[in-house]
Amino acid sequence: MKSLWSDSEAAQFSGDLAQRVYTSRLLGRESALVLHGGGNTSVKTREPDVFGEPVDLLYVKGSGWDLETIEGAGFSPCRMAHLLKLATLPQLSDLAMARELKCSLTNPGAPMPSVEAILHALLPGKFVDHTHADAFISLCNTPEGERHVRELYGDSVVVIPYVMPGFKLARLCAELYPKHAHGGTIGLALLNHGLFSFGATARESYERMIDLVSVAEDFLKKRQAWSVPAPSAQEPTADRRLALAALRREVSAQLGAPGLLVSHDSPAAWQFVGRPDLATISQQGPATPDHVIRTKRLPLVGRDLGAYRAAYTTYFEKHAAGSGQKLTMLDAAPRVILDPELGLCTVGRTAKDAAIAGDIYGHTMEIIQRATALGGWKALPAQDIFDVEYWDLEQAKLRGAGKPAVFTGEVALVTGAASGIGKACVEALLRRGAAVVGLDVNPAITTLYARPDFHGLVCDLTQEASVTAALEAAVRRYGGLDMLVLNAGIFPPGAPIADMKAELWRKVMSINLDANFMLMSACHPLLKLAPNGGRVVVIGSKNVPAPGPGAAAYSASKAAVNQLARVAALEWGKDRIRINSLHPNMVFDTALWTPEILASRAKHYGLSVEEYKTNNVLRTEVTSRDVAELAAEMCGALFAKTTASQVPVDGGNDRVI
Ligand code: ZN
Repeated sequence: MKSLWSDSEAAQFSGDLAQRVYTSRLLGRESALVLHGGGNTSVKTREPDVFGEPVDLLYVKGSGWDLETIEGAGFSPCRMAHLLKLATLPQLSDLAMARELKCSLTNPGAPMPSVEAILHALLPGKFVDHTHADAFISLCNTPEGERHVRELYGDSVVVIPYVMPGFKLARLCAELYPKHAHGGTIGLALLNHGLFSFGATARESYERMIDLVSVAEDFLKKRQAWSVPAPSAQEPTADRRLALAALRREVSAQLGAPGLLVSHDSPAAWQFVGRPDLATISQQGPATPDHVIRTKRLPLVGRDLGAYRAAYTTYFEKHAAGSGQKLTMLDAAPRVILDPELGLCTVGRTAKDAAIAGDIYGHTMEIIQRATALGGWKALPAQDIFDVEYWDLEQAKLRGAGKPAVFTGEVALVTGAASGIGKACVEALLRRGAAVVGLDVNPAITTLYARPDFHGLVCDLTQEASVTAALEAAVRRYGGLDMLVLNAGIFPPGAPIADMKAELWRKVMSINLDANFMLMSACHPLLKLAPNGGRVVVIGSKNVPAPGPGAAAYSASKAAVNQLARVAALEWGKDRIRINSLHPNMVFDTALWTPEILASRAKHYGLSVEEYKTNNVLRTEVTSRDVAELAAEMCGALFAKTTASQVPVDGGNDRVI
C-alpha cells in the first residue's frame, strides 16, 4: 500500500486539527483500510478555555462522520485529563463510559466521541491513526494468526489479544502498553481487530500506518495468498426477478417489516458464490466483530430461511446465557445471502444499509480467500461476535434510531419519471422512505438523482423486451416491487375526429393504453409478492369523466385505462393488490406547458394567465406536487381499505361535479 501524502496538498491544511483532517481523509480514500466507520483518528493539542487557561485536548473522530469526507467539525474535543483518569478505573460499563466521553467534551454540540477515545488518549503520540485494515485482518483470521503478527512486526508494535472494543479494551491497553513499549514502538496490533499507529506529526503517524499495513500485504504476497482466484466466467441466470421477489418476501417476514434485497452482479461475487467450499468458508464468522451489526454473524447459503432462523435462534439462546444480561433476540433475517443461482444478495431496511452490507461483504470475500490461501480461514469464536452484536452501546443506538418513514423497505416504480408529475411522484415516494425506480424514454432519467434509493432506467414502454429488461434490472437492484405508479402518457395536439389520422390514434393508444396494459400484466406477479400487499396508482385525467372536443384519442385512451384499472381491481383484490386512480386537470408546472402556450391558451379564453391557472371551483392552482402527494397517499394507510376509487385533483371542475 502506497502513501498518498502530497506536500502541496498538505500545505493547504495548517494547524494541528487541519493536518489531522488531511491525513484522516487519506486513510478514508482506501476502503481496504477503513470501511464504513471501521477506523478512527485523533490529535492531541492544547487550547485556551473561556478563561484563557490552557487545556490539554484530544480531538478524536466523532460518530456519524466518514474519514474520507471528514471536516474539523467531525472531531470531538475531549479533555485529556478526564480521559486519562477514566483509564485508571478498574471497571466501567460501556454505557457509563459513553456518558463520561460526552461529559469530557469542551463543546456540548460536538458529535459523540469514538468509543476508542480513551485508547487514543493513552497512546503517547500527538497524532494517532487506527484502521481495521483488510490485510491485517486476513493475517489474524488464520490458525497461526498471532504467531504471524508477532513475527512480522517484532517489537515495533505492542500486540494486544482480542477483547471487545470499549472500556475493556482501553483498560487492557493501559495495562499492556507500558509493560511492552519502548523508544522504538510505533503502534499497537489488536488481534482480529486492527492496527494503531502514532507519531509526532500527521505524516509520521499516517505513513507508519501505511508501513504496518504494507508489511501484512507483502507477507500475503510472499505466501501466494494475495491474489484472489480469477473472476468467474459463469453467466448469471438471465431471469431472476420472480425468484428474487419471492426471497425478498420471505426475508421481509423475518425482518418483521419490508426490506430491500440488493443483487451484486460483480464477477468477483459470482466467483465466490461458485466456490465448491462455499458452505464451509462462508460459515466461520465475520472478518471482524465490527461487521456483525451490518452483516449478522453468518450469511445464508441458499434460500432456506427457516433453517437460518432456527440456527440464529440457537446461537442467540446459547450465547445470551453467557452474557449475564437479559437480552431480547434481534430479528433473524440474514443480511448477506449467497445462492448459486441468485448470486450475492444483501438485505437492508434501507438501500443504504443494503449497500453497506454489500461493500463489507465485498471485502470479506477477499479477506476469507486470502486467509484460506494462507493456511485456513478461522474467525473469532461465536461468543466474541455475539458480545458485539448484543453490545449495550449498539442496542442503545438501535433504540434511539427513531421511527422509520412509512414506505421504508418498500420499492416503487414510476413511469414517465424524468419530469413533471412523474418526477414529483418520485420525490413524494422518496420523502416517504421508498426506494424508487424511475422509467423514462429520456436518458436524463439515469442521472436524475445520485442516491442509493433511486435507480433511473431508460425504457420504451411500448416495447415488451424493454419493459422486461427494466423490471429485471429493478428487481435486481431492490428485490421486488410494492408500488406501481402509471404516469407516462402523451397528450397529442388537438384534432377533430373527422380529420384525425389513424396513425396518431394508434400512437396515442399504444403509449397511453397498450403500454400500461403490458406493464400491469408484467408487474402483477411481482406485486403479488409485495410483503405489505401491492398498490397501483393510475394517473388518469379529468378527460375520463369530462372529455373535451378535439381530444378524442387522448380521452378515449385515458377512459380505457380507467376501465382497465377497474377490471384489475376486481381481478387482483384476492392477491392483496389495490388499484386507485386520480384525475388531475390543468397542472401547469410541467414541461408540456411553456409560458408561451400558457399565455396563448389564457388569451383564447379571454383570461389573464393567473385567472386561467386558477380557473376552477376552488380558484386554486393545482401543481405536480399536489398530484404526486395524492398518488403517494393512495399507496399508504389512508387508502388501505380502498380499491378502484377515482379521485379528482383539479380544484373542482363544474363539468365533473
Ligand atoms: Zn477499531
